Amino acid sequence: MKTSETIILEIDPFNIEEEKIKEAAKAIRENKTVVFPTETVYGLGANGLSEEAVKKIFIAKGRPFDNPLILHVTNIKAFLEYAYVSYSLLEKMEKLVPGPVTFVLKKKKIVPDIVTAGKDTVAIRMPAHPIASKLILYSGVPIAAPSANISGKPSATLSDHVIHDLKNKVDYIIIGGKVEFGIESTVIDLTAGNKPVLLRPGPIPPQKIAEIFGDIVVPDFAYGYVEADYIKAPGMKYRHYSPDTPVILIEYQDKEQMINKVLTEYNKYSNPIILCLREHYNFFKERNMNCDIIGSEENYYEFAIKLFEMLRKYDEKVEVMIVEGIEDKGIGIAIMNRLRKAAHKIIK
Ligand code: AMP
Ligand code: MG
Repeated sequence: MKTSETIILEIDPFNIEEEKIKEAAKAIRENKTVVFPTETVYGLGANGLSEEAVKKIFIAKGRPFDNPLILHVTNIKAFLEYAYVSYSLLEKMEKLVPGPVTFVLKKKKIVPDIVTAGKDTVAIRMPAHPIASKLILYSGVPIAAPSANISGKPSATLSDHVIHDLKNKVDYIIIGGKVEFGIESTVIDLTAGNKPVLLRPGPIPPQKIAEIFGDIVVPDFAYGYVEADYIKAPGMKYRHYSPDTPVILIEYQDKEQMINKVLTEYNKYSNPIILCLREHYNFFKERNMNCDIIGSEENYYEFAIKLFEMLRKYDEKVEVMIVEGIEDKGIGIAIMNRLRKAAHKIIK
């Protein structure tokens, strides 16, 4: 849907111009839509207390109305305003906040049903990004925001992605440089019983959460293999992170086996690309194969930041993308979750 022409604001996150951020905050208060950077991915935000404003987010993204949004707040006390949280729980949450982590809590009445897709729980996050924080602070309301991409497509980690997907579908786009992590926040459900449940892996790995909260339940669907029981994780029932060009994922295995499986797939197509580990790049390049580096075994954070960028870069440029996977450890769980959901075919 075309609204009106999008106003683009370029803001340096290290030297925020007050006038520009205040203009964007005013737009939020006027129930307009504003795309802004966070430390995870770009978000598509609107006044989280206004049904009219939040509706515009769903329409701009083409997002199904039964997929709930995350409320973004700028201080820890806000968790108490929008959800029922005990002080002992809040003390634990404080150790991870602000940061790339979202908590699912019992919601208070003030949160409109449209934000939570009618559920009695609400997802809340306090981002650490300076532009996101100031935008929320100046707007004076919690900002409901999913990732700033067309529903089902890879999330936006660069401002070019946002422009591509959402220009003239939203009121404002803040161009605010690169994001830090490149994958969406870790989502933890604190309402499921006495143990926290990992609904979506993200930059904060389950081990880190367990250190603070004690045991954490990691359901099978967190790995991205099986469809979630969407009552528990409503967002999971939809196709996610998928470019139009098919993705073939090769699960992590030893180097020789992995390369053999890549070669078998590669030879089936006339115009494939291999999105490979840095450690395998020379092998493919020396054989004149079409390839690019998506990450390395050495540094999974590099993989996370490049993941969606690479899936978008080669979308509709090749016949198929063959992606080399990594191990399900640390942030690797989150990366493999996204890749398994994006994949049309998974090879073990
Ligand atoms: P996005 O911001 O596009 O990454 O989507 C937000 C994600 O947060 C959704 O896909 C849901 O899985 C999750 N979420 C939001 N609200 C809730 C909730 N009340 N209960 C469980 N998960 C939620
Ligand atoms: Mg999303």
